[in-house]
Amino acid sequence: MELSGKVALVTGAGRGIGAAIARELAEGGAKVVLNYRGSAEAAQTLAAEFEGAIAVQADVATLEGAKALIAACVDRGGLDILVNNAGITDDGLVMRMSDEQWQRVFDVNTTGPFRLIREALPLMARARAGVIVNLVSVAALRGNAGQANYGASKAALIALTRSLAQEMGRRNIRVNAVAPGFIETDMTAALPEKVLQTAQEHIPLRRLGRPDEIAPLVRFLAGPGGSYITGQVLVVDGGLSC
Ligand code: NAP
Repeated sequence: MELSGKVALVTGAGRGIGAAIARELAEGGAKVVLNYRGSAEAAQTLAAEFEGAIAVQADVATLEGAKALIAACVDRGGLDILVNNAGITDDGLVMRMSDEQWQRVFDVNTTGPFRLIREALPLMARARAGVIVNLVSVAALRGNAGQANYGASKAALIALTRSLAQEMGRRNIRVNAVAPGFIETDMTAALPEKVLQTAQEHIPLRRLGRPDEIAPLVRFLAGPGGSYITGQVLVVDGGLSC
């Protein structure tokens, strides 16, 4: 129970990778604030499994949403671990991509984490401790046809991660990014079968990953094992990018 006494906020924790991360951190002893936007029942059911966990509705793409989530953490005693997991795709070729399609993806994937981090930093700086983990993607590292908006939004989040690690290291705030490859969630279920098949052929482990293969790394980074790791992008992709 290496995380006992810690308060953790996980955005998009009702399903997919976020739900697995929330479960893992709660099993590590953290009091978890599970954010959801639409998945109320799933988030509340998961929160009910763990003492000290609560589910909080908020749209991370809005400033009010960010402030409400930080307030919920303050109510529980502070904020030690922030996991920016909520994310969306809105795929299309650049030549046909609308401004709205570009902006929506950035609002959730990049501006959302930026605002939550900004609101969380005074709490962490005061405590002279904190851990931030941002979920990015291999699409940010190698690009992906049809996902220019998504890849660019996650590449921006990587730059934010590295800059912030440099800014906040002296206050003992560690900031890292986890970059999954293809993981079995609703996000990849929306991809055409052919894309998934081709992806699997290029993954050395020859299969998609599962959310519970991402979550333990986040728990590790949040705990004592990660105490000298900051400013890094850790790739979990079955070897896809090697
Ligand atoms: P998912 O199954 O599509 O779930 C998306 C999650 O994000 C849901 O919990 C959703 O909440 C939440 N969300 C979306 N917009 C939100 C908003 N405006 N405010 C609050 N929550 C919002 O996604 P996933 O596959 O678990 O992905 C989780 C993270 O990993 C994302 O950042 C994604 O980009 C990244 N990632 C995933 C893969 C993959 O292969 N699956 C690969 C690389 C990176 P509600 O359900 O409550 O609406």
